[in-house]
Amino acid sequence: MVAVAIDGPSGAGKSTIAKAAAKQLGLIYVDTGALYRTVGYAMAREGTNLDDEDAVKQVLSRIRVTFSYDEQGSQRVYLNGEDVSEKIRTPEMSMMASRVSALSSVRVFLLDLQRDTAKRQSVIMDGRDIGTVVLPDADVKIFLTASPQIRAKRRHQELVEKGQQVTFEEVLNDVLQRDYNDSHREIAPLKQADDAVLLDTSGYTLEKSIEEVVRIIKEAAPCSIK
Ligand code: C5P
Repeated sequence: MVAVAIDGPSGAGKSTIAKAAAKQLGLIYVDTGALYRTVGYAMAREGTNLDDEDAVKQVLSRIRVTFSYDEQGSQRVYLNGEDVSEKIRTPEMSMMASRVSALSSVRVFLLDLQRDTAKRQSVIMDGRDIGTVVLPDADVKIFLTASPQIRAKRRHQELVEKGQQVTFEEVLNDVLQRDYNDSHREIAPLKQADDAVLLDTSGYTLEKSIEEVVRIIKEAAPCSIK
């Protein structure tokens, strides 16, 4: 069994890179951001006042967040059994995820799900606090980052390709805002673990980034990888 933690800010390419590396290494890829997005989606749909702790807990007591993998190996997420994998991929849901992820009741709600998943199989798990909080004993920890401009450029391209009408400035502002929220929140802020390898992909192509991540994992956990 091997556990790989990949953390870093929004748009650093974590999910694309982690997914490709997991495929090459025969590991399960777990996108934890999707879980926060699903909770954010649930709160948005219910119109929950996020400042009202009891209301948030009320909603959490009524929802079930689960995930599985399709034939292509892509992770699908479900809210009370409904597949919300596409609905959670909008800029609004990015912001909702960032907001709900600052609430301790939400983080506690998702913690066991993440830990149990890593107990049952070898995983590459990506998020913000995987190496620091969720899997502090992970075999390999990587902190993946890139400059805000590069990250915004990549994300903008991705959204435009999906047909969403959004400007580069909007995406950049969103990236900066989420960076701020994620690294300034009190609970489990975005932070490089002391024992994580820092990988800045600003000057890298996607292929090179994947190659580097695979190399770091193989070097750090040679016996556990097939
Ligand atoms: O990775 P993604 O952009 O999909 O994550 C959405 C939001 O969920 C992030 O902005 C962050 O606030 C939150 N998140 C988190 N901890 C994680 C994963 C995501 O706080 N482990």
